[in-house]
Amino acid sequence: MRNDFFYAQPVKIWFGEGCFARLEEILGELSLERCVLVCGRHFAPEAKKLQQQIPAICAVFSEVEPNPQLSGAAQAARLARMHKAQAVIGIGGGSAMDTAKFAAAIAPGEASAEAYWSGEVPLPADPLAILCVPTTAGTGSEVTQVSVISHGSAKRTTNHPSFMPKAAMVDPLLSLSVSPYTTMITGLDAMAHALEGCWSKNHQPIPDLLAAEAVRLILENLSTAYRDGTDREARAALSYASLLAGLSFAQPKTAGCHACSYPLSEWYHLPHGEACAFTLDSFVTLNADERLETLCRKAGLSGTAELASRIRAFKEEAGLKMRLSDLGEVDTAALAAACAAHPLMQNNPVPMDAAALKAMFEALR
Ligand code: NAD
Repeated sequence: MRNDFFYAQPVKIWFGEGCFARLEEILGELSLERCVLVCGRHFAPEAKKLQQQIPAICAVFSEVEPNPQLSGAAQAARLARMHKAQAVIGIGGGSAMDTAKFAAAIAPGEASAEAYWSGEVPLPADPLAILCVPTTAGTGSEVTQVSVISHGSAKRTTNHPSFMPKAAMVDPLLSLSVSPYTTMITGLDAMAHALEGCWSKNHQPIPDLLAAEAVRLILENLSTAYRDGTDREARAALSYASLLAGLSFAQPKTAGCHACSYPLSEWYHLPHGEACAFTLDSFVTLNADERLETLCRKAGLSGTAELASRIRAFKEEAGLKMRLSDLGEVDTAALAAACAAHPLMQNNPVPMDAAALKAMFEALR
């Protein structure tokens, strides 16, 4: 065990069934009097109602799409400037929360959204506050300083303190309406966060503890929530697991499986969770070591072989893409080279060059 580490978790977290009903009270507690609410279409009707009920919500941007585009974040930032907002509230899956985070970070600046996104201009020093309310159980974006925003077909992950939320409200009731497919892929995204945080080269004792509990809860509850989305106990367990998984990778960062997810999403259009799931069991096998065996035993498994087979069973249950042939024509050499070049690959405990990654993908033929 490491006996030297620095751990920080600056987000105020409210968790519990029905806690979202306290939104107005919590905005008051945080002294936030002027906020822009950012969400996707599924939450748009509710957002309009909230705007009428809560005076602190001065504007709503409800057009966030999956793989959120920079143009949406720029529009939300414009609203924030126009209304002199102090905060941006992101309600939804990772797409809505990441849009809210990016809008809050760039709203005080004068440069174009593109200049901030590309890194040509540093983010303003005085970001607006961010309040995140997840409605899927997967990304953990409510407790990370990461925002994933696409510009055209280029998807970019930016890691910056300006994206760290001030507060998170995690209400499992908000996830009851998530479809079975999205339930499965977001659950496997959370599983990937917990495992990658644990096997990351920068792993730490506190996040490691959270990761084991997140994996245990996902193994116990994901199939139940997939088959019956109204099962409140399973939904609450997954919301909690997703939060723990977010905390378990927030500082250590993710590794090989997430590095591969970027080309898989950009080239073969797999949603983020399905892209992570595509290689997750392969990385469990490749990264298996004593620490991962310990996590498996804490999660109630016999070891890493059982973990890999449980992940494959989840993918089979939901009919997720599992084999190279499911992706269409694949140039494995080009795919492996792109995955090897992703910076997160440097965080993988086992060195994975393009040749090793090509062999990993070839095994999925
Ligand atoms: P998502 O936000 O794209 O949502 C998927 C779909 O589910 C959307 O159509 C959305 O409208 C719908 N939806 C969301 N909540 C719903 C609900 N309660 N009921 C019905 N429909 C609902 O999916 P996601 O997996 O939550 O987020 C994926 C995005 O998050 C990707 O862009 C990914 O790269 C990013 N991400 C960010 C972080 C981070 O730390 N910032 C971590 C992991 C992933």
